[in-house]
Amino acid sequence: GTVLVTGFSGFLGSAVALQLLESGYKVRGAVRSESKAKPRSKKYPQYSSQLEFTYVPDIAAPGAFDKAIEVSGRVQGRLMNTYKAQGVDYVIHTASPLADKCGDPERDMLLPAINGTLSVLKSANRPGSTVKRVVITSSFGAMEDYGQPWNPEHVYTEADWCPISYERAKAEREDQALIYVVAKKEAEQAAFKYMKENKTSFDFVSVLPTTIIGPTVQPVKKLADLPLSCTRIGDFFDTKELPSAPVAPPIVDVADVALCHLRTLEIPEAAGQRYLCGVHGHTPAQVANILRRAFPSEAHRIPEGNDEPWSKDFRWDGSKATRELHIEWTPKEISYAEAGRQWLELDKADRASA
Ligand code: NDP
Repeated sequence: GTVLVTGFSGFLGSAVALQLLESGYKVRGAVRSESKAKPRSKKYPQYSSQLEFTYVPDIAAPGAFDKAIEVSGRVQGRLMNTYKAQGVDYVIHTASPLADKCGDPERDMLLPAINGTLSVLKSANRPGSTVKRVVITSSFGAMEDYGQPWNPEHVYTEADWCPISYERAKAEREDQALIYVVAKKEAEQAAFKYMKENKTSFDFVSVLPTTIIGPTVQPVKKLADLPLSCTRIGDFFDTKELPSAPVAPPIVDVADVALCHLRTLEIPEAAGQRYLCGVHGHTPAQVANILRRAFPSEAHRIPEGNDEPWSKDFRWDGSKATRELHIEWTPKEISYAEAGRQWLELDKADRASA
């Protein structure tokens, strides 16, 4: 089958695309422009016959995905020929604005996230569409009660929704992460509402990753090109104090998140489900020790931590994805070591070119 992958140029989108190609799927990668497609097509030379690009300059524009999700129909010409389009069988929608790029909450985060998601569903729902399933990437943030003290009595599961309102996020000026989690929640809820209110020929699955760690598939040349969660690894180097928190726990390996998306395409029972994707807790001390062990020659640059266990005051349950999507989660030692290796290589390159 053919899969449209939105956000193809991104951290997750490129990892999803690679696994799809390796598994024999055809991939239509949605990128903003041709200049984004070129360096990426070079990355997959062995898959050139399976990979094509489509250009979506702005996911928030009305009808943004009409061209990317072609439908068959009749050409309105003199001959009234029937036109058979090269449609897609599946859509994996990873594109979404990120937390560090928000000036105006509604314009830059809330509306692009919601309208981008609805736009995918509307384009897939036109007559002549060949789409069988749409998978969207939501976020653990869409289920978490963001900013509240940890409650050891509560275990986060797919039954939870972030309780913060659209109006509060719209008025927020300081906390970009709050605006981001509300945008993810609103986009996911808008998708469920659309699916409830419309009779579609396709079904819908939502994947909710926790913080994603791991080496990138997309080309990166300098530290600034790394995804935000991976640049934070740098906080552990050349410091005497442990960083207060590397990234928000829980964490998950990028390849595991990609595999969750792939599996949701292949398991009929996934229809209409949400999947929390991530099982590992981590403390700054644990991350420091993982990096010290993985890179002995760099250990003098990294503070030492005690291997205290992950606090049980903040709890979540990723067992539904383990069970139903058959995921064996990559140990965090491997994810941090591989992301750390890439960070060190880029750090060296940055120093050399400074
Ligand atoms: P990236 O920033 O690496 O990728 C985001 C992608 O979306 C890029 O390809 C970007 O294109 C595209 N995009 C964003 N806004 C627009 C727009 N307005 N028009 C067209 N394209 C757009 O992020 P990730 O890969 O990390 O995130 C992928 C998904 O996973 C997102 O939905 C995110 O919310 C979710 N997620 C990520 C987590 C993480 O820790 N990284 C954790 C939980 C969920 P371009 O490169 O051209 O800007």
